[in-house]
Amino acid sequence: MNNHVTVLEIDGNALEHNLNYFKKKLNPETKILAVVKAFGYGSDSVKIAAFLQDKVDYFAVAYTHEGIALREADIKTPILVLHPQIQNLQSIVNYRLEPNLYNFKIFEAFLKLSDEAPLMNYPIHLKFNTGLNRLGFWHTDIPKIITTLKETNHVKVASIFSHLAASEDLEEQDFTINQINNFAYIAQQVYKHLGYEPMLHILNTSGIVNYAKAQFDMVRVGIGLYGFGNDDKETALLKNTHNLTSIISQIHIIKPGETVGYNRAFVAKRQSKTATIPVGHADGLSRRLGNKKGYVLINNQKAKIIGNVCMDMIMVDVTKIECNEGDQVIIFNTQDMLKNIADISETIVYETLTAISQRVKKMLKK
Ligand SMILES: *Cc1c(COP(=O)(O)O)cnc(C)c1O
Repeated sequence: MNNHVTVLEIDGNALEHNLNYFKKKLNPETKILAVVKAFGYGSDSVKIAAFLQDKVDYFAVAYTHEGIALREADIKTPILVLHPQIQNLQSIVNYRLEPNLYNFKIFEAFLKLSDEAPLMNYPIHLKFNTGLNRLGFWHTDIPKIITTLKETNHVKVASIFSHLAASEDLEEQDFTINQINNFAYIAQQVYKHLGYEPMLHILNTSGIVNYAKAQFDMVRVGIGLYGFGNDDKETALLKNTHNLTSIISQIHIIKPGETVGYNRAFVAKRQSKTATIPVGHADGLSRRLGNKKGYVLINNQKAKIIGNVCMDMIMVDVTKIECNEGDQVIIFNTQDMLKNIADISETIVYETLTAISQRVKKMLKK
């Protein structure tokens, strides 16, 4: 059991608020897929899925074992595996996961498996590349896909989808609209020849914000659920879901000239009071936050991180803060704090969230 005092609390109310915020931007019949890959953006995909399962239509994970973890926790909602990988296709079926098939290699491997089983109308998802050039069939692959599909009833296409390359960036509007139009054309071609109409989806969070008209049948919300919109104004309308706290392990009073931490990176100019906190770069705090770049909150006051961030700990300057060993420390509990950490770490909030390691204890508060 993980009884670490450094805890990431997932705010269920905030998750629900954020989900409803995006629902309001959509037609009532548009389905919602909640993206819970990478441990629910650095938290706990099982806890999040258990909380959201009666509020969304689908979940998506990146890899097969992430989907298996949800099934093993008794999550019954359909789960799209975005990058299933050929060696896992039998597990996909065993756990009733739904594979994204994005090229002929994996498509044919899955069809072979579906023939051998045999499966009946097993839900598959076809991804088309419309410009991200990451995963996906090309529109020129459609005739061969259709011919293959017409010969089998072992699989059924549950959805056709694509992914936008720059949905958050209005300077790339022409490119994005072109992607959406290409997708609509691909869907039309597939519909015409397939004989039934799978669901269509292309929008991620910022896609919903900027191109809600292209919501088709379903949208895939990730970062938005976790409290981040396209810009600060929108983020302010969302609620923060990830709150990381810890407690002070030890307080030291050090004399002028004494140093703190590895490489003696902090040198005390005056008598100082430091607090040691059990969270470090192995928990997801970038070393870039060291040497007074980052801070934590102790009793509502900013305590700067001094010296280098260690693997398992940080030391902060609490010379002017009334505090004791055992007091609570807030590493982040607002989107502003997270954004600040991401900025100092020279990255985006996606990375700051997903960097929170598995060692940190996770709790979901309803
Ligand atoms: C990660 C991912 C999403 C979610 O994106 P957000 O920007 O976090 O909403 C949606 N679709 C695909 C294919 C993804 O890989």
